[in-house]
Amino acid sequence: MKEIGKAEFSNFVDELIADDPREVIGVQAKSTKFAFDPLKSAEDLRLDYDVTILPPKKYFMPQRETLVEYNTNEGMTAVNEVTPRIILGIHPYDLIAIQQMDKVFEETHSDENYLAKRRQSVLVGVNMKNASEWSFAQTMGTATTESGYDLMLTDIGDKYAVEIGSVKGSKLLENVKSELGDVGMEEIEKVRKFKDKLPGKFRDDSAFDPFELPRLLSEYYGKDEFWEENAEDCLSCGTCNLVCPTCYCFDVKDVNDITLTEGERLRTWDGCMLEAFAEVAGDENFREQKAARYRHRYMRKGRYMYNKFGDIACVGCGRCSEQCVPDIADPVDVFNQMKEGTNGI
Ligand code: SF4
Ligand code: SF4
Repeated sequence: MKEIGKAEFSNFVDELIADDPREVIGVQAKSTKFAFDPLKSAEDLRLDYDVTILPPKKYFMPQRETLVEYNTNEGMTAVNEVTPRIILGIHPYDLIAIQQMDKVFEETHSDENYLAKRRQSVLVGVNMKNASEWSFAQTMGTATTESGYDLMLTDIGDKYAVEIGSVKGSKLLENVKSELGDVGMEEIEKVRKFKDKLPGKFRDDSAFDPFELPRLLSEYYGKDEFWEENAEDCLSCGTCNLVCPTCYCFDVKDVNDITLTEGERLRTWDGCMLEAFAEVAGDENFREQKAARYRHRYMRKGRYMYNKFGDIACVGCGRCSEQCVPDIADPVDVFNQMKEGTNGI
């Protein structure tokens, strides 16, 4: 583990912005919230944020992406626009979500549009100083991580302790102009104390253990009234999907120009809570009822992904809970009801 003074770290970030050919992304304040965005100055970087509006998945799986361009003279050309990036300030739960996405895109159809962007990114994590009031990362075991980062920073007063997670991370540190010290026992103790204080930053109203979720969800699958009651106020807006760091569904459509001689194949984010998500030809919709869509979202978080990859696909970031207008997307609420049998169904 290395250490770097905060002033030196700021200089390092400013030098990356000025000299590194890669785009430098960092968490910044946006009105009363925070967002990952291109950095213009180290001054704008907020490593003390609680949660960002969207997770960093938008850099590997953009909201709108051209996959193929075609025209009637030249045929079809595969498109894969990759912007190499250094992304600063990713919280542990988002790093864990990215590792889950990597598995999905590697082990299913080896999606080169996603994977090339991941390979060309350097991920710099930060241990959490603050947490959203909705976050239950401690319950989900995602408040810290030992993997998924190239570098991981911990604020230890006037310095950052820097853990190196990969060769990419180590190479990035070669750009630091000041001497990087090795941490001593005192700094290691400060990192330990920082991590010891983490549990107190998260909400503590979870009654369930994440590893019970596949069984609980299996038991509740056929309880239609449970899902109908919980989904009653759902607006089918899809926000809970779109803000989630482990949701990756997309739609693909062809957009032709008016002469029909050229066009492009686009992929855009999609979400299983949207009414048209499971619509197919012949006017069939396999999940026409909002309760069925609502149930599917939870099954996918706590059961289906576990069965396929061994992961619980909720990392406890709390974004869905915070951003759902009728306040019905909170996984803790639904999982607690199952665990405690509190809704009488
Ligand atoms: S649960 Fe909330 S955020 Fe999700 S689709 Fe329904 S209304 Fe929208
Ligand atoms: S389901 Fe909600 S709390 Fe869980 S990872 Fe997705 S957005 Fe975060």
